[in-house]
Amino acid sequence: MAYFNEKASKINHQYIIENPKVKAYLNKCEKIGQNLPLEVDSQAITLPIRNIQDKFSFCIERVITIDGGYQEVNINENFPSQRLCYYNIGILMFSVKDLEAVEIQQTINPSDIGKLENLERFNFVVPTQNIRLKNEDFITTFRKTFYEEVFTKNYLNEGNKNSSFIHTIKWLVFQEYLDSDSRGKGFVKFACPHCKKIQKFQRQTPNYLDEQNNFMECSECKSIIYITDCFDLHTLIDEINGATLIESYIMSAFEIILMFSMFRFLFEEDNIQWLPKILFIKDGPLALFSRLDDFAFKVVRPFIQFLYAKSLRDKISYVNLVGLDKSGMFVEHLKNIESKIPLGNILLPNLDYMKKYITGNNASVFGENTYFGIKMFVRKEKELSFVLDVAIPFDESVKYKDYIKQPKIEDFLSLKNILEILFQLKCDLYDKSFIPIAMVNKLVSLSNIPSKKILTIFSRDKLS
Ligand SMILES: [Zn+2]
Repeated sequence: MAYFNEKASKINHQYIIENPKVKAYLNKCEKIGQNLPLEVDSQAITLPIRNIQDKFSFCIERVITIDGGYQEVNINENFPSQRLCYYNIGILMFSVKDLEAVEIQQTINPSDIGKLENLERFNFVVPTQNIRLKNEDFITTFRKTFYEEVFTKNYLNEGNKNSSFIHTIKWLVFQEYLDSDSRGKGFVKFACPHCKKIQKFQRQTPNYLDEQNNFMECSECKSIIYITDCFDLHTLIDEINGATLIESYIMSAFEIILMFSMFRFLFEEDNIQWLPKILFIKDGPLALFSRLDDFAFKVVRPFIQFLYAKSLRDKISYVNLVGLDKSGMFVEHLKNIESKIPLGNILLPNLDYMKKYITGNNASVFGENTYFGIKMFVRKEKELSFVLDVAIPFDESVKYKDYIKQPKIEDFLSLKNILEILFQLKCDLYDKSFIPIAMVNKLVSLSNIPSKKILTIFSRDKLS
């Protein structure tokens, strides 16, 4: 911002470059991710894909993919900004057979999508700056919207009240999926949004579906706390800056709950024999970041561990769940070392490898509080390599921070089957993509123009 003298601004950088404190500081820094692994380092953790054996052989017949898009609009060109964020999240389910037909054509057009079964779209809007519910402050507006509009008023099956996503959050938190005495006894602890006193949120009536279990009264200040407050996103927003920082977290939370609503549906309809036949593909890593991390490792991870233990008991894989990374440190690393992984091989990095070559030597354990999957690098052929997250292959007797020190391919229940399906789904049209991901992406993405333009006009009209 050069108010007085445009020339002056052109030499101001000199002060920075010549400042010894700045120079000294930069001298103390190091760049991460530069080192390339030696052949020997990766050899021990690389193995041929053809050697992978599934624990139980079962045929995956269906693929379920979840992806979302969002678009922020500012409806006031003058001061102050008034922003809303629109969401469009889709779940697409189809049979592997149908996909094979699509694959042969190598094109994705609407008629192909029409052949595929079951696309559900979910839409909602969240005010993110200078727009509130009447008579409410901004934080309360966000909390109420998140609770009512995002989770309570969206259903897996429209018309079936029990399929509301709010119930899935409770189902996971209270551990309603357990078949032991502990069923329904799960809980989460978090600070009351008003008085900040830590509260224990647990089931209050025997039937978790009851509305009374959606919220509780703070033991200290007696204000209402919603189950959705357990995501802690309201702690990242304020009246002035609004909620623009949490736009992507809102989507992650919804995507995860949408995915686990499918599990809940199959459990409650007594149809878990379907689970081994389904591959769930999430666009992005199997993790939840920032304030969502508590939910990731206290709620989601135990559920996956439960499914893993149950799978071992029943000798069938109830959890075929993967995430596909599009960006981030691991994708960068793969680009860097691709040629070092022999074709037809998989590299399963352990914690030492990650610290040495990817994340830097942190005191913290990568993924300890955020992940419910394990990362690996897959290199099938020259044009097909990717970073794959696979649901954690260990039960509750093992801790993530210990497992990640030395993950083992043979612990995964159905990796061979999953990889076979993924290789079939490879999509040449889009760089390093897979057909179901490309499709669902196409169906939910909100373009900058014209979607943004139309949503802005729509918002102005409705809010006038
Ligand atoms: Zn309170």
